[in-house]
Amino acid sequence: MNVLSNVYPTAALREADARHHWHPFTDTAALNTEGARVIVSADGVWLTDSDGNRILDGMAGLWCTNIGHGCEEIAEAVYAQMKELGYYNTFFKTTHPPVIKLSELLSEITPPHINRVFFCSSGSEANDTIVRMVRTYWQIKGKPEKQTIIARHNGYHGSTVAGASLGGMGGMHAQGGLPIPGIHHIAQPYWYGEGGDLSPEEFGLWAARELERAIDALGEDKVAAFIAEPIQGAGGVIVPPDSYWPEVKRICSEREILFIADEVICGFGRLGTWFGSDYYGLKPDLMPIAKGLSSGYLPIGGVLMADHVSETLEQGGEFFHGYTYSGHPVCCAAAIANINILRSEGIVERVASDTGPYLQQKWLALGEHPLVGEARMVGMVGALELAPAKPDRTKRFEPVGDVGTLCRDISFKNGLVMRAVRDSMIVSPPLVITREEIDDFIERVTKTLDATL
Ligand code: PLP
Repeated sequence: MNVLSNVYPTAALREADARHHWHPFTDTAALNTEGARVIVSADGVWLTDSDGNRILDGMAGLWCTNIGHGCEEIAEAVYAQMKELGYYNTFFKTTHPPVIKLSELLSEITPPHINRVFFCSSGSEANDTIVRMVRTYWQIKGKPEKQTIIARHNGYHGSTVAGASLGGMGGMHAQGGLPIPGIHHIAQPYWYGEGGDLSPEEFGLWAARELERAIDALGEDKVAAFIAEPIQGAGGVIVPPDSYWPEVKRICSEREILFIADEVICGFGRLGTWFGSDYYGLKPDLMPIAKGLSSGYLPIGGVLMADHVSETLEQGGEFFHGYTYSGHPVCCAAAIANINILRSEGIVERVASDTGPYLQQKWLALGEHPLVGEARMVGMVGALELAPAKPDRTKRFEPVGDVGTLCRDISFKNGLVMRAVRDSMIVSPPLVITREEIDDFIERVTKTLDATL
């Protein structure tokens, strides 16, 4: 049990939290009256709160605890590394064994054309880095006009100024004068919400061709790159129609632009493949990674670079960019241990052919529930669109978001973490969830839906 929770009762913890802690993505005024949930420990797929309740972590923290909570091997690897070399930087031609080992491991699990990695501490920093990398890439190539990055409405690429600008979240853009110049947003492949009368396949082609139309409108000589998540996570687990990615692939191969696959959620087994790009057969030039890289045990992110990108940047001399914690040895040790566990326990393969299909089958059956308009899931990431009149995709609960919030709160009372994005319920459990735990999980989701009706 957590030391603080032994000393302070829950009410005192909540009060101190509300007084002194400014939370990310939180309505602070509401927090002051309601108080925060206090999670004190975790093990496998289970969280324990300060009142001793056990809660099934249906979100793997924030889509990151792929190997589950409470992993001793990671704790031991981190402890050993802290004693050996607790910190050193990788600036100015310096390196150390953990960063070398992790870089090498990543080149083993990534597609053959990706062999270099730049490290940072988060997905947001990775995307900030990428903005500078792609613009510098085209400068070195003698095409300095190619600066605009095309991204998608409702995409999520982080919270830093560049990350939030690449993201297509209107609420974030409204705070702090975003997006920065040179970012252009196009439609997302969200058939359920925006497909109108088109079939999923027709809509997927239309959404993909928005990229082509944007390149033509902006001028190919001005466009540096296109960034997209293989499956949009924070936007509501938007699984694109089957026609979408092949068409985007065609467009990217015909046009002179870089393709950035944001693998921060989809990477490290979430879709039953090492990367979301593997699942969809994509060949990205750059891939931001974070979250599942260390299963969230310590903050670490990175930018995976195709050979032609690193070779081009190399020609530009020094790249004036880096973070104090780039390649932090202890974070690298956590990531190495995490990847070794994913590999040695065959966790990615299990998601592809055993527990993944078992969960998908049960999850997709929830589409029959009277409250659910559509159930979707790939690998172990899924969504339920809550809808008032299920055959009619245009009908929404009003005001949007209230039913989702209610359902999320009920799920928590049922000992389950689900996330609400508008009126969609989102899940992304630890990849180590067992069949027995999946049965329990589905039971809790069903109970929650029944109580929300
Ligand atoms: N990219 C994607 C696809 C994400 O989902 C996230 C976070 O949820 C980020 C980037 C930002 O990562 P971080 O929160 O580690 O900065």
